This record gives sequence, structure tokens and C-alpha cells, in this order.
Amino acid sequence: MCGIVSTICVRGGSELIAIEALKRLEYRGYDSFGYFSSNLEYPRKFLGAISDFKIESSLNPHSSITLAHTRWATHGGVSDSNCHPHVSMNGDCILVHNGVISNYDILKSELRDKGYTFYGKTDSEVVVNLIEAELRALLASQLSKDVLYAPESIVKNVCARLEGEFALCIYMPLWKDSIFAISRNSPLVLGRSDNTMMLASDEIALRDFCDEYISVPQDEVVSIHRGAMSLIALTPKYQFWQELE
Ligand code: GLU
Repeated sequence: MCGIVSTICVRGGSELIAIEALKRLEYRGYDSFGYFSSNLEYPRKFLGAISDFKIESSLNPHSSITLAHTRWATHGGVSDSNCHPHVSMNGDCILVHNGVISNYDILKSELRDKGYTFYGKTDSEVVVNLIEAELRALLASQLSKDVLYAPESIVKNVCARLEGEFALCIYMPLWKDSIFAISRNSPLVLGRSDNTMMLASDEIALRDFCDEYISVPQDEVVSIHRGAMSLIALTPKYQFWQELE
């Protein structure tokens, strides 16, 4: 089991909160950890325990969007290239994944046929590239005018092809103020406060940072957005927590 924490903050502090929350998921066990923030060019990855690294002093207090992950390797060894967050080949998608994709090998060879190459051995890297491929196909199609309104369907279409269990938190630079998430047979909780909206594998991670939380419904895409002064969380079915002040 690994741990996921994703954070959007209106007034900054997303890296600090995400790493602090990630520490509360250490009980689940892990061999490496990493995070990505919208202000970073690449994810930062670390092999070993969070306490082995003095990362707090290097965290950006002004960051607004962060995805963080503790990994328990299931596919591929403990290495930088297998550690999360994963980035798609062209950088259009970044994600953290908890769980196992049992049909990843078929999907991987399909992506190879389209010209995709892989830097690591995880099932997760297949998902990040599937999302990119779906996004690029949409952009290339006549629907490009509408693609800005379609990120949830991109995630949904890709997840419909996945077998296994997963919780995913996804960042796409094209939607630079949003995080998308979905889970199947893997826990994912959404919480909020006036400054912060968070997703995590366990509500323990959200305590102290959020005033209230709910479980993310299975197979529903949740999108959380940061506006100038507001946070919004939506799923197609449950339109909850709109327009937080
Ligand atoms: N299957 C993924 C990997 O091996 C995720 C494992 C986890 O849940 O930590 O990287």
C-alpha cells in the first residue's frame, strides 16, 4: 500500500501541507516518495524514508498545487525512474497512483506501437501516457475547440480501459489550476478548509488541514479547481462544495 496526497491552496502552502500530510500515511509502508508542484519543472523523488531527507527547508511556501506520493513498489524496483509522480512522454500529464493495473502490459504495447517510450517499469507510467495519448487525440481531432471542457471525460475514457485497482491524482498543465482524481477499489478521501482542498488515501492525512471530508465515489472523476479566491470540487453526479469562499 502506498499513500497519496494532493493539495490545492488558494493562499499558498500546498507543498508544506502535502508533505506534512504524507507523513501521516507512513504507517501504510513505503520504499520511496516524491512530489510534484505546478511551480516545478520536474517531480522531486527520494528513495527511502521522508525523515531521511531534510526536505522541509526546500519546500516552496508559495506553491498552490501539489501531488505527493509514498510508493510501495509492485511493478519495477525501487528506483528514481519508478518512483512517483510519473510524467508522460511529452509532459502533458503528471500523476500519482496507488494500486495495481493488471492489464498494463497490453496497454503498454499498444502505446509502444504509437511511438511511446518508457523510462521505468511501473504500471503507473502506462496510465500517465494513456491519458496523454487520449488528450493528444482529442486535441488533434475536430473537437479541439471543445477540449478545454473535456478533461474529466479524458480521465474517464482512460479509466474505462483499466483493469485492477487504483486511486489516481492527475495534473495536466493545460488545466493549470486543477487536479483530477478517480478511484476504483482503492480508498480516496476529499477534504476542504477555507484555504485548502485535498485528496488523500486516508482521512488521517486530512485532519488538521480540513474542516470536513467525504469519500470519493467509485469510478467518478472528481475535479478540484483553484480560482482567484475560491475552490470548487465537482463530479458529474455529485456537484458538491461549489464556490467555496
Ligand atoms: N503499482 C505502482 C508501482 O509499482 C503503485 C504502487 C503503490 O501503490 O505504491 O509503482
